[in-house]
Amino acid sequence: MEHRGRTRPRRRLPGLVRARDGRLQLLGERHPPCPAREPVRRGAGRAPDARSRVHRARRSVAPGRRPAAHRVHDLPARPLSGGLVTTTEWLVCDGCAAMIYGRRFARAGRICPECGWHAPLTAPQRLASLLDPGSVRTLELVVADADLPEFTDLRPYSDRLRDARARTGLAEAVVCARGRIDDNPVVVAAMDFRFLGGSLGTAVGEAVTRAAEIALRERTPLLIVTASGGARMQEGILSLMQMAKTSQALGQLDEAGVLTVSLITDPTYGGVAASFATSTDVIIAEPRARLGFAGRRVIEQTIRETLPAGFQTAEFLLEHGVIDMIRSRAELRATLARLLSVASRRPVSDDRAPAPQPAGPALITDADRLPERDPWLCVRAARRLGRPTTLDHVAMLVDGFDELHGDRSSADCPALVAGLGRFEGVPVVVIGTQKGHDGAELAARNYGMPSPAGYRKAARVMRLAAKLGLPVITLIDTAGAHPGVDAERHGQAVAIAQNLVLMAGLPVPVVAVVTGEGGSGGALALTVADRILMCENAVYSVISAEGCAAILWKDPAAAPLAATALRVDARSLLRLGIVDGVVPEPGEGAETDPVAASEALRAALAQTLGELLPLDQMTLVTARRARFRRFGSDTAVLVDPAAAGRPDRVVSR
Ligand SMILES: [Zn+2]
Repeated sequence: MEHRGRTRPRRRLPGLVRARDGRLQLLGERHPPCPAREPVRRGAGRAPDARSRVHRARRSVAPGRRPAAHRVHDLPARPLSGGLVTTTEWLVCDGCAAMIYGRRFARAGRICPECGWHAPLTAPQRLASLLDPGSVRTLELVVADADLPEFTDLRPYSDRLRDARARTGLAEAVVCARGRIDDNPVVVAAMDFRFLGGSLGTAVGEAVTRAAEIALRERTPLLIVTASGGARMQEGILSLMQMAKTSQALGQLDEAGVLTVSLITDPTYGGVAASFATSTDVIIAEPRARLGFAGRRVIEQTIRETLPAGFQTAEFLLEHGVIDMIRSRAELRATLARLLSVASRRPVSDDRAPAPQPAGPALITDADRLPERDPWLCVRAARRLGRPTTLDHVAMLVDGFDELHGDRSSADCPALVAGLGRFEGVPVVVIGTQKGHDGAELAARNYGMPSPAGYRKAARVMRLAAKLGLPVITLIDTAGAHPGVDAERHGQAVAIAQNLVLMAGLPVPVVAVVTGEGGSGGALALTVADRILMCENAVYSVISAEGCAAILWKDPAAAPLAATALRVDARSLLRLGIVDGVVPEPGEGAETDPVAASEALRAALAQTLGELLPLDQMTLVTARRARFRRFGSDTAVLVDPAAAGRPDRVVSR
């Protein structure tokens, strides 16, 4: 296909055609049509004169003006052992049309230095860019062609396959390998869009499944790099079955506690998007990579509406809770190395397992050691804007924290943060509500009041902790779960209820710390733990003092009375056995010395985790359930006539 105005024939990727506006589009012959590339967002991260540079570049690529420049897509394929393409030629970015010097472009990992557009990588290039040099052990894919379906559209399928092989030097649209990322072992399956649009046929499905089986056998994390238009039509219903086959292989890795990560590259659509691309533990996408089930044009034709700019891009999907994070190529290796290292629970060089310490200054467990304070003053103190937030504590206490986003279905709640990292050298999952220090931060974080998507994100990350055997630390500072129309519509009550069940049975140590406000069910949904700690000025209550005053006193001004009656302060709650220990705060409160406050929390967490880490999961879960079972157990008896005469006739006492 010849692009208008070009002066010489040029190579292009299979499955790509050039639209009238000159942008590359996916050819719909082997897979569902994908949307045209989104217009590049101007402005972000660009120099003030970038726009004029773009225009200059565009003028310079006018027909006949610069025949030596190639489109970035036009770079030739490299052999399996090859690294990134280097060329001394000038290239034209497909994202912004700026001219790029080839060598600079290659050095940057095929990222446009002007607009950050990530040019496609072949599978061999991908493996070379991700894995430690010298660590790549390619798993040879031997494809049996004897039973090739005799499918012919405009051309016989066998011809298309033969051409794809000749053009790419690959046996199929995926290359699998063993390797290491920063010395962490990993099994990788990397798709190659050049090969029939990365379509999912039987051989691709088989290769991904076998890679998963190797990962399972060797208990090595699996990384899948996706680039695909969807299922391979020429192989018919057998292609569809690959979605089920690969998914069950990933399910087995779940059961075995082996980490799975997908890296979404542009484009990932159809059957790949709806199977192994999104059923992994952690979904990372490259900037602007598109991911979806149906392509943009299919949707637009169906609903007869124009979709918003950025639809189905990584940025859109992050906001809508579908993916965990976006990482540029420059950050990928470091991020993957951290995830692999945490998941393998490998000790780090400066590993310091929390040593059990006597209950001393780190944690106050005797209520009499705490001064008696007016609970209303505690309520006021717990709400001070200067108090360290969850992310403040994380920055102080957790090394290599990678935040995970989204509930995988509807949204990413900004009021709840969750992620993986290391505390005192020990891999942990940290989950917490997030407020802010000023009006803007509070508004951006929905005032620390999680939505159902927030609680579902927490649940997802807790399940990941259970799968990987990582202890969970929760930090709670919330006035409560968000009360609102949308929250109700999306099942706020159900989301909280499900967390209570989940946490009660979580087979890993769970430590909860109420660092500020512990507001009712919204706080409890993160507080069903083996040990519940409270900062000295924190409060924890069934309802806000104001709410209680309004309902029972019929007067919000009675809040101080309500606070006292509700016994919301740390001293009262320690005495009641609701909390197990109180974390001392520096000076007049955590906000007066946030660093010292975080250090006090560190000591308390280290002591508590030190007690819990040696315990097996049965001991943990049994004790946790007994801990909550006892609340109110002496207040009522349910007499069971069917059990009359038996010693257990009293069901509850
Ligand atoms: Zn660019």
